This record gives sequence, C-alpha cells and structure tokens, in this order.
Amino acid sequence: MHASTPLSPATTAVTAGRPPREQGGPVNPPVVLSSTYVSAGTPGPGELLYTRNGTETWTPFEVALGELERSALPALVLGSGMAAIAATLALVPSGGRVVMPRHSYQMSLALTEDLTVRHGWERELVDIADTEAVLAAVRGADGQGPASMLWVESPTNPMLEVADLPALVAGAHEVGALVAVDNTFATPLGQQPLAVGADVVVHSVTKYLAGHSDVVLGAVVTSDPSLRERLATFRTVHGAIAGPFEVWLALRGLRTLALRVERSQRTAETLAARLAEHPAVAQVRHTSLPDDPGHERASRLLTGHGSILGLRPRGGAAAADAVVDRVRLWVPATSLGGVESSLERRRRFPTESVTVPEDLLRLSVGIEDVEDLWRDLDQALRG
Ligand SMILES: *Cc1c(COP(=O)(O)O)cnc(C)c1O
Repeated sequence: MHASTPLSPATTAVTAGRPPREQGGPVNPPVVLSSTYVSAGTPGPGELLYTRNGTETWTPFEVALGELERSALPALVLGSGMAAIAATLALVPSGGRVVMPRHSYQMSLALTEDLTVRHGWERELVDIADTEAVLAAVRGADGQGPASMLWVESPTNPMLEVADLPALVAGAHEVGALVAVDNTFATPLGQQPLAVGADVVVHSVTKYLAGHSDVVLGAVVTSDPSLRERLATFRTVHGAIAGPFEVWLALRGLRTLALRVERSQRTAETLAARLAEHPAVAQVRHTSLPDDPGHERASRLLTGHGSILGLRPRGGAAAADAVVDRVRLWVPATSLGGVESSLERRRRFPTESVTVPEDLLRLSVGIEDVEDLWRDLDQALRG
C-alpha cells in the first residue's frame, strides 16, 4: 500500500496501537499490572515511574483513539467520561464564562453548576442547534467579554439536536474561546471535531468505544501539546486514572467499533421509519427521518445518523413507563452504546432537564437482529 493513502477509520480502529510486527511477537499488547517501576536516580523523559503518572497499558488505546480523532497526539484515557469532562473544564479560569447546550449530558450540567459557584464562573445555557444564539452568547453581551469556553455536544443527549460545528468553531475562535466537544454520541466515525478546528474532544469511552457495557472509562483528545500537558497534569494530580485492565478491554472493544456502529445505525434507521408509522407512537426522533429537525445538518456534517432514538408513545409518561415494563429483549437500563439494545424514560431522573419531555424514551439500539428488536418493541407499544 502507498504510504500517503490515509487508512479508513474502520481500518484504523483495527490496526492502530498494535505491538511491533515481529517474528514471534504478540498481535495484542500485554496488560501490565504494576503500580510502580524500577527507577533509581533522576528519571529520564518519558520514563515509567508510577502508574498514576502513566503506564504502558494505556498507550495502545491512547494511540488508537488519537489516530481515530485525527489528532497529531495520542489521547489521554481517564477513569470515566466525567473525569475527562472535569479535566477539560479545568482549562476554564476562575471567573471565566462557559457557554453550553441546555440539553448537555445531565452530569456535565451538574458539574458546571457546581463550578459556577466554586470558581465564580458564569454559565450560559443555549440551544446548540441555534447557531446565531450560540455565537451571540459566546461573544457576550455589552460589557461582558467573550466566553472562555464553548462546550458542544452534538447530537445532544437525549434531545438529538445537531450543532453546526464548523460555524461554531470559527465564531468561537474569532473571540478567543476554546471549543470542547463531547463526541460520545457521534463517535470518531461520525465526526472528527479536531479536523474542523475544535480544541479538545472528550469521550465517555464507557459507551460506543468500549461498546460492551462492561467498563466505565473516559478520554480526552487534543492536537495542542500545551493543552495536552495541562490535561495530563489534571489526571495525575486529581488521580482521575483508569485501571490498566479496563483500558485493555476498551481497546478490544474499539477493534469492532465500525462493525457495531454500522449495524446499530442501520437498525436504528429501520426502526425509526417503522416507528414513525406506528399507531401507538406520538413522535419519533432520529436524524435519518427526512422531517426530523436535525436531518439536513446531520446529513451534511455527520457520517451516519447514529443509533439513539427518541420515542414518545401516545399516552404520556405512564404509557412510556408501560413500554419499559413490557419489553423482554430490550434492556431497561441507563447508559447507551453497548451491543445490547436498551431504553429508559429520561425524566425518571429528577435531575434531568425540565425541557426534556416527561414521556420521552431514549432508545439505544444494539446489534441484535432487527426483526427481533422490532417485534419486541411493537408488542410493548401495543400493550
Ligand atoms: C455517559 C456520558 C457521559 C459520562 O460518561 P461516564 O463514562 O458515565 O462518566 C458524558 N457525556 C455523554 C454524552 C454521555 O452519554
């Protein structure tokens, strides 16, 4: 193969972060379980010393995710998606201003609310799909000064609003704001925010990247060496680290990312189209549907429409709860992005944003047979 031909992300997910190809060598990296390393005298640059600072078992996953996100530098893996979000938000100075989607992941909202009080921040919540409103908030009102950071989630969890990311990045950079993107929903197969100029990408690795609902992990990615250094320091001094074995499992999960995403996305499109015709359904949200508010932008900016569906059955919250009670194959559970299909009514959490409808079910489509998933959903909706 010609060296200048870039590999497809589906290939990179399989090939990146492998040990050197040599006779008798393993094809997978080993798991090293050691809290400390032999070390005398002044440690050299990059020398392994103590596992909170770094361990070789993180590196293959970090290299692979960095390549998938088209970063010049390896990612940094952390103990959870929230640890990755906390590390990124720590880039905002005290007294800073943060603009973020009103329908961000609810714990991201809880964390910024706390930081607003403790660090004297201002926080402005916006409809991330409304580009003009977002950029006005980033520029700031008269006498307010520009935002320190624009936080983006696209599509949002659970409302599936789609941001015009290239326009937001350009506008935010004009006034010197950092742009951080939670890319958990889209995955690096759906969009690569760094390639359109975003400064930091965060992931809940727990979801699609690891993909099997068996680990909780997070990651940050940036192409800026000084930002990466600050994020790495946060990880070390706050101790927000991942266990080596969990990271090894995440790398194994990452190998099948493209297969899982392609399959679950295709199934989600089929289910969305059928649900739109279902007599017991009041509304279904998936950007593959031509009349979905995010359809045009998602078709233009994202590769694929993802495998999260928003479903509002007829009959309100009680009807939504009844669907959750009646499914036999779909798993009633929070979280998403696993091989198994799952669903939940988001407003069962008192902390969920009040602008999320009471009757909204968030469905995470897995890789089971589409007809089995449909039959189970259909019987649960019919009651
Ligand atoms: C789950 C999730 C998180 C938090 O990640 P954890 O791994 O659970 O800490 C952040 N953002 C989004 C979009 C998520 O879905």
